[in-house]
Parts: sequence; C-alpha cells; structure tokens
Amino acid sequence: MFRLGAHVSISDGFEAAVEHEVELGGNCGQLFVGSPRGWTISEVDETEANAFRDAADEQDVGLWVIHGTYLINLATPKDDLARKSIDCLQDELDAAATLDIPYYVFHPGAHTGAGEETGIDNVGKRLSDIDVPSGVTLLLENTAGKGTTVGKRLEDLDTMVKTSDYEYGDLGICLDTCHLFAAGYDFTDEAAMGELVDEIDSTVGIENVHYLHLNDSKHPLGSEKDEHEHIGEGKIGEAGFRQFVNHDTLREKPMVLETPKDERGDVWNIEKVTALRTDG
Ligand SMILES: [Zn+2]
Ligand SMILES: [Zn+2]
Repeated sequence: MFRLGAHVSISDGFEAAVEHEVELGGNCGQLFVGSPRGWTISEVDETEANAFRDAADEQDVGLWVIHGTYLINLATPKDDLARKSIDCLQDELDAAATLDIPYYVFHPGAHTGAGEETGIDNVGKRLSDIDVPSGVTLLLENTAGKGTTVGKRLEDLDTMVKTSDYEYGDLGICLDTCHLFAAGYDFTDEAAMGELVDEIDSTVGIENVHYLHLNDSKHPLGSEKDEHEHIGEGKIGEAGFRQFVNHDTLREKPMVLETPKDERGDVWNIEKVTALRTDG
C-alpha cells in the first residue's frame, strides 16, 4: 500500500497527531519528539505510547518516522557537542522504540572548519556509540550542502555507514528531494531521473533507502540552499515530481511532505502528489 503523509505536530499529544494526519488525508507521517531547535525531548510514557499505537492501528496510519532535532551534530570537531548530540539522538531513538515507530531520521551535521573528510569520519565513528534499538532503523538524511554541512553526496552517506560498526539494516537512508536538487542532483526529466537512480544504486543502494521527503526547492539546481517550496511550485516543478514519485524503484517507498505550512498547507500538497502519481 502506498504511504503518503506530512510532518505533523505533537503539541496536542501523540494520539492527536494521528488524528491530525488523518485530517490532512495522510496515511503515514513524521513527528518531532521534542523542540526541533532544542535539546529537551518530551518524555514518552507507556500510556501515551499505547494510545498512539492504538490510534495509528485503528486509523491505519502506518510507517511513522521521527525526525531528530536540528541541533544534533555528529560531524563536529567539538567533543562536548558530540557527546550532547549522541545522548540526544539516543533519547529520541529510544522514544521511537517506545512508540513502535519503525524509523528515525537525522541530519549528519557540520564539520565547522575541521574539513569535510574529518566531518564524515566523525559521523561514522560516532554512529558506533549509538545503541540502535531492535525494531527501529536509524536513517541518515542527505543534505543540501549548505556551509560546512556534510552528507550532500550520496557516496558520503555511504562512507558514514561503512565507517561505523553498523551495517545497512540497522542503518538506512532517507532522501529529501529539495536537498538532492540543491546538492546538484537533477531529476527533472526521464534521462536525469535514470542517472540519479543509477547513482543511488551504486552508492547507498536503492534497497537501503527507506523513506522519502518530498519538498520542492525555492532555489535552483546546485544552489546548496535549503528552502522548501510547495510541490510543483518551485525549481523542481511538476515534471520533476512526476518522475520522482512514479519511478519504479521509489514509488512504493513511504513519502512525507515538509512543505511550508501557509495557506496552501499539507492538504493541498498531499492532493498535488496524489494527482501526479500515475495511480492517483
Ligand atoms: Zn530533515
Ligand atoms: Zn530541507
């Protein structure tokens, strides 16, 4: 079954987040378990977790993913920030396990002057310090490449995984369309889409991509700028999304939207993607 949804808030609680997703027309979704720009995560107790699980089962909203806080930086040369990042990531991962959420995704971080190779190596080594609970896959998200952030090239994500003591299975990949495009990966016509898929397959492997973030880009190909736009309204455009969401190798993977929450909002974007699907 094809899963498509949007990022939703837990400000009314976990159970209500399921309800919010249903109201948007989604059947999968993404959550933060704390403030996206803070270190504190919301404690998840068993009662809340049970209510969330029951609601998700009842409404058939499946394949949830938790998005890590933006402060996490496993690429950093600073030991104290690395420690804080590992602890926070662990707490959020454990929350995913408590909630029976199968995926957790985070941005690898920034090397802040230590050099790209060092940053990538730092991420790989620090992944080994994390205890990935059974039932949860820890996903590395590709980045737009802004400033000193690492993880813009697919081969760099693959290096991080291979540097760690883990293998694909416990670890996996989440691809963000806006970040791919900003990082210079074109997929706006059939030939380019074919090349991108070959590139994915020869680096991280298509089978290790577990989740897709669908966002159009306000900025052109290779701009390294991370600003999301409504589906079809940005520089990727409808043609690009038609290629991406219908490609044989990707079309069955769960997709969530992180498009602007303005007057268009998530309902509009979910309808848009559905209309672009050949099965929509
Ligand atoms: Zn992200
Ligand atoms: Zn982004």
